[in-house]
Amino acid sequence: MSQDSYVEEITPQGEDFSRWYLDVVQKAQLADYAPVRGCVAVRPYGFAIWEAMQSNLDERFKATGVENAYFPLLIPESIFKKEAEHIEGFAPEAPWVTHAGEEELSEKLVIRPSSETIIGTMFSRWIQSYRDLPMVLNQWCSVVRWEKATYPFIRTSEFLWQEGHTCHRDENDARKRARMMVGVYRDFLQEELAVPVIDGIKSEREKFAGAVDTFTVEALMGDGRGLQAGTSHYLGDGFARVMDIKFLDEDGEHKLVHQTSWGVSHRLIGAVIMVHGDDRGLRLPPKIAPKQAVIVPIYRQDSRSEVLQQANRLQQELAEARISVHLDDREGYTPGWKFNDWEMRGVPIRLELGPRDMEDEQVVLVRRDTGDKESVSWSGLAQKTTDVLDDISENMFKQALDFREKNTRAVDEMSQLKEIISGPRGYVLAGWCGDAGCEAQVKEKTGATIQCIPFDEAKYSEQACLCCGSESGRTVVFARPY
Ligand SMILES: [Zn+2]
Repeated sequence: MSQDSYVEEITPQGEDFSRWYLDVVQKAQLADYAPVRGCVAVRPYGFAIWEAMQSNLDERFKATGVENAYFPLLIPESIFKKEAEHIEGFAPEAPWVTHAGEEELSEKLVIRPSSETIIGTMFSRWIQSYRDLPMVLNQWCSVVRWEKATYPFIRTSEFLWQEGHTCHRDENDARKRARMMVGVYRDFLQEELAVPVIDGIKSEREKFAGAVDTFTVEALMGDGRGLQAGTSHYLGDGFARVMDIKFLDEDGEHKLVHQTSWGVSHRLIGAVIMVHGDDRGLRLPPKIAPKQAVIVPIYRQDSRSEVLQQANRLQQELAEARISVHLDDREGYTPGWKFNDWEMRGVPIRLELGPRDMEDEQVVLVRRDTGDKESVSWSGLAQKTTDVLDDISENMFKQALDFREKNTRAVDEMSQLKEIISGPRGYVLAGWCGDAGCEAQVKEKTGATIQCIPFDEAKYSEQACLCCGSESGRTVVFARPY
């Protein structure tokens, strides 16, 4: 097998980005289609990425006072229906459990599409006094929504996520928490996933139906489409009213709590693939890469044991320096085939150890982000690898930011927006007066939706509405979304 024959199996991004994405998901063994409508099986390599994200996020949550809990997968119809009194919600996409064995259940159970109602029911029991507040809980679980179209990690009927649910004494405290969590998501995406985001607020039309305000982090994918990467909602006291979550305040009055909810899902894996991937496959940010470095030994039969012995020694040294390193000593594959395989799987650093390197007591270090090669002496390898991993993190963020900046354009006419959305795509900055009618017209005429109204007001000044021309507009971010 020639060195290039392996990567040729991946469709080039420029030819068909969506095909490229599906090729990477399958060939890097991240996920596979399961024999269940709209569902995928997450394979060990994909799940290891999720676990790395999960443990990092969990630490960040707990640093802000979040506690984890777990609530039932099945929700009785009578409880689930309460949500409908408040918003239309998730009922249209909810699957139901009606039988246990042959026996029909006395009450249908819904498989959770989200847990507001079941958690709200428990909140109403657990919260009595202002002393019980704030209550700040998070649940790691999967939820089910009967989606029509499947796109691995981005849209599946069952998906992994976390859902935070909090109760507060007043609006101010709840709003502070909602903004805090969108900040946690922003920092996580930028610092760990090397994905630059724009944080902001959703328009009325795009927000979660049960929310007073929805805050969001938005990222631009490699094909110029926008992805909502995480949201945090200030819910007001609407759910509290229907779920009867009240507390006795210091002044002796019973009051409704103010709530927030916030979540990210395993679509973040999809974001990492689509922001960083290239024609050779995946490129993983070092901080969430299950394997940060791979050692590929190169030998003939007569040098085999000597090379492998040294490779083992280096592996151990790197592991002691807390670098996640893998020694690829598989028989029956050429070094060239292994290089391509690990490039496709996105491992940030490859270390090649051959007969000449043995003589010079060095390895050849190859970066996945740039393809640059350099020789590094064994004695300084652990430190060098650590430094290069840090540099790769920074560089990948910079590359993604450069891409976003090149693909962000300002316009003041609807026709220009349409041209960009049907052509190169990307983010389009334009003025919007705040009217839902204008927003709907823009979507109908161009296919673009408002990704967010950015928090950073200084950077996005006032501008006339591109639909009605009203001078009272603010600059917002349009894109064709996933
Ligand atoms: Zn307008």
